[in-house]
Amino acid sequence: MGCRSGSRIMLIALLWLLMTGCGPLPFPAVHSQRPAADPYQPYRPSMQPWIQARLEEIGTLPRYTLRVELDGAGDRLSGDMHVSVPNTSRDAWPDLVFHLYPNTPHYQGMIAVSRVVLDGQPVVTEMIEDGTGLRAVLPAHLPPGQEVEVTMQFNVTLPRGSDGYTLFGWEDDILSLPGFYPALAVYEEASMGETGRWLAQVPPLFADVLFNPAAWYELEFTAPAALTVVASGTTLQMADNQDGTRTWHIVGGPLRDIAVMASDRWHSVSGTAAGATVTSYYPADEPSAGQAALFHAAAALRLYSDLWGRYPYTEFDVVAAPLGYRGMEYSGLVIVGEDMYSRHRQQLAFLVAHETAHQWWYVQVGNDPLAHPWLDEGLAEYAAFDYYRGVYGQGAAEALLSTRWLMPIEALSAKGAVGPVDRPADAVNATEYELLAYARASLFFNALRERLGDELYLEVLRTYVETYRWQVATPQRFLRLAQNVSGANLNPLAESWLR
Ligand SMILES: [Zn+2]
Repeated sequence: MGCRSGSRIMLIALLWLLMTGCGPLPFPAVHSQRPAADPYQPYRPSMQPWIQARLEEIGTLPRYTLRVELDGAGDRLSGDMHVSVPNTSRDAWPDLVFHLYPNTPHYQGMIAVSRVVLDGQPVVTEMIEDGTGLRAVLPAHLPPGQEVEVTMQFNVTLPRGSDGYTLFGWEDDILSLPGFYPALAVYEEASMGETGRWLAQVPPLFADVLFNPAAWYELEFTAPAALTVVASGTTLQMADNQDGTRTWHIVGGPLRDIAVMASDRWHSVSGTAAGATVTSYYPADEPSAGQAALFHAAAALRLYSDLWGRYPYTEFDVVAAPLGYRGMEYSGLVIVGEDMYSRHRQQLAFLVAHETAHQWWYVQVGNDPLAHPWLDEGLAEYAAFDYYRGVYGQGAAEALLSTRWLMPIEALSAKGAVGPVDRPADAVNATEYELLAYARASLFFNALRERLGDELYLEVLRTYVETYRWQVATPQRFLRLAQNVSGANLNPLAESWLR
């Protein structure tokens, strides 16, 4: 390794470390000043009081400290990461697996990881899943309840897209940075003769790629000062550096991911809803659509908080992004395709209602986007029915149900080709995926609502959030919970829609 520490020439060594970039770099910033009595102190500004009062229920989550710098040309990110990984499963872990999302076909960038150190010792690593995952072999099995400290450095090459759909990197002077760091995968415990495993397989291009355990995050993000930087969590402070860059100090948790968006071309407008500051970052030449995005985000946040349980964070951002007429969900932040602010303006309300619902279905309650994509997509999609009913009335909600979900499925079933909803993303094609995970899944939740009645249906959803908040649910768990809450036999319904 060639790096020394602990000698009396500590200061010189530290300067040398900083100059040469030899790692792992120390993490002196906030970590060491944290009072031991309150491990949640750094993250509290990002959480509403009600969730702060219930932190003991959450249990131990991974804790990330990230220090990332964007170069002046905007071509590369370089970063250091420190993550405390608790083994919260019942299995002893022989290894850890991290997603390298920038290497996926969804993101089309490139991330290289170096100097992976576990509890102070360099470890053996290997690339897995066609370079989209990193496996670090633990020197000894990590028993349940124990924690390991991992540090690594990473460099990301940022792609530049031009086709109107860029999830990662630059397009239209907008920089999109979800999943830009090595992200711990979700571990599935051993059960019924199956060995435990890390869920790091990459879904097909048309399915969502992020799948992480909820975690605590501290991020120092340095970039040219001219950029507006919007991120998951809360920005505690911004500090201008002498070289014309600025450092944003961002905290958040529990977050399913930490996403950063940056541009110098947004305008913004803010309001408050459901205990949070809601901000719409919109194309400068579309102020009325920017206001509309704020209106719908705030209204959806209020409505869903009333229906399903409160929104946990102090901020919620809706950000214009180079996604055409599509959107995407991250923790405390959703992105909305720029076309929605102009030529697809009539779809803005629907899209914002859908993406905002993901703050419950995906962010608070996670599920595997490869094995069971319909679970969060169906709930988020069908949430628009509630939104339309609340904002535009019953007739508009019925019309949405009919045109958006029922008619496409009826057209499909006329050809005799409607399959079960609960299929893995890699078992269907892009068209089937859209029809099943969105349309037919919405019709399933509508059928469930009709079977149980409004009150009981909402009680099922509220109990689902309470039971699986910050965890990973499955269709089986959802159905068992729905049966327990309602007392109804839902097997026939599940048989005819899901299996
Ligand atoms: Zn969605």
